Amino acid sequence: MNQRVAIIGAGPCGLAQLRAFQSARAKGADIPELVCFEKQADWGGMWNYTWRTGLDQHGEPVHGSMYRYLWSNGPKECLEFADYSFDEHFGRPMGSYPPREVLWDYIKGRVEKAGVRELIRFNTAVRDVRFDADSQTFVVTAHSYADDLTSSETFDYVVVASGHFSTPNVPSFPGFESFAGRILHAHDFRDALEFKGKDVLIVGGSYSAEDIGSQCFKYGARSITSCYRSAPMGYQWPQNWEEKPLLTHVTGSTAFFVDGSSKHIDAIILCTGYKHHFPFLPEDLRLKTDNRLWPLNLYKGVFWEQNPRLAYLGMQDQWYSFNMFDAQAWYARDVILGRIALPDQAAMHAEDQAWREEELKLENAQQMFEFQGEYIRQLIAATDYPSFDIAEVNRTFLQWKHDKYENIMGYRDKCHRSLITGTLATPHHTPWLEALDDSLEAYLAEQPGPGKRTAP
Ligand SMILES: Cc1cc2nc3c(=O)[nH]c(=O)nc-3n(C[C@H](O)[C@H](O)[C@H](O)COP(=O)(O)OP(=O)(O)OC[C@H]3O[C@@H](n4cnc5c(N)ncnc54)[C@H](O)[C@@H]3O)c2cc1C
Repeated sequence: MNQRVAIIGAGPCGLAQLRAFQSARAKGADIPELVCFEKQADWGGMWNYTWRTGLDQHGEPVHGSMYRYLWSNGPKECLEFADYSFDEHFGRPMGSYPPREVLWDYIKGRVEKAGVRELIRFNTAVRDVRFDADSQTFVVTAHSYADDLTSSETFDYVVVASGHFSTPNVPSFPGFESFAGRILHAHDFRDALEFKGKDVLIVGGSYSAEDIGSQCFKYGARSITSCYRSAPMGYQWPQNWEEKPLLTHVTGSTAFFVDGSSKHIDAIILCTGYKHHFPFLPEDLRLKTDNRLWPLNLYKGVFWEQNPRLAYLGMQDQWYSFNMFDAQAWYARDVILGRIALPDQAAMHAEDQAWREEELKLENAQQMFEFQGEYIRQLIAATDYPSFDIAEVNRTFLQWKHDKYENIMGYRDKCHRSLITGTLATPHHTPWLEALDDSLEAYLAEQPGPGKRTAP
């Protein structure tokens, strides 16, 4: 096949795209030339932990938002690759909520087996993408850090897989300028031990707030106060964790809230979300959306309607994650290979709008993951990605939600069944709240190692 495809990013989405093409080639298909640009030195995107914050060693904004001691916040059974099971990778059952390094290992295992690393240009940031209407091709300009060279190449398709949890949304509140302690966004949070013995204020009511607050609790913060704009998270928090309505202002080391209450605080962590940010894309190709289940202007949640030679992966808010990225990557591959024909722009847009209208009717978590599950089911039905029981995944999500309401500090000790292999997870050797060592080695050990656990 005499075509070239540029993939921007080698996180779970970019890797899914590489694996999708490799899988077709393994079955005898003629595939295009693939070039994956990755600005970091290694693959795995968010799951490739960095201690850095602010700017990286090249003066670029740090991509990573993950922190030490992060464990999966949903059951691994809900994200399992249908073509590469946890059993295949680890060779034995394990817990349902592994730490970051374990999931990174799993992500890497599939693409190492697929042998696609040579298709990735590491330490190379895409700076610009232009479409030439006459030739119907893109010019992609990238900067290689190693030789400090910026060069341009032509491609027939571009797949944007650069993630959307890296550019922080940072509000300000009166009094921040004279606050005595540290103010940071979740993007710059790295180690909960920094907040040991401190009174921590978490601004926000979503996943980051829930998990970063839980980290601070687990690693010994004196108190946690979380405050919300729209609704409380509603879990039964430990005794030193209080939920309040939104912050109004800060005076010295005291935070004030809209209900008139106040509280002493030492540090403020803004868990206020992220922006979709594509500085390398021109206006006519750039997705503009908030973080939601159905961003507009993407046919099948993937193809840029105004120019379907451009595809985006993983731009949705995520209940499903790795398996949704796979479903999208397989679909994108089959369009590029000419196996699936796209309808005209008006038809694409009409379908897109219909999904948005359905999205607007969603009222609760169950409806949301069922909506996303149905979307994935339809994508998978169109390709040869191995099908799995979406209804069962939804049931696992429902059980997970239930477990969280029952015990927010204990839900990670529960075990779920693989929808790919049928294997039931086994309890981890140490309850999550006591498991302070999150390394792969400690997690895969049969029992807690000596000196691995220190009390907070
Ligand atoms: C704190 C945190 C916790 C999370 N926890 C979970 C969890 O428990 N379970 C779960 O399923 N999901 C979780 N997620 C969601 C997570 O983002 C996805 O699992 C997944 O990493 C998304 O994959 P991606 O490939 O779209 O993006 P990313 O993983 O962000 O990868 C994008 C890649 O693109 C590269 N890139 C960006 N711009 C350029 C450029 N201009 N040129 C070249 N390369 C570029 C980046 O360096 C990066 O490697 C979490 C996210 C965060 C932030």
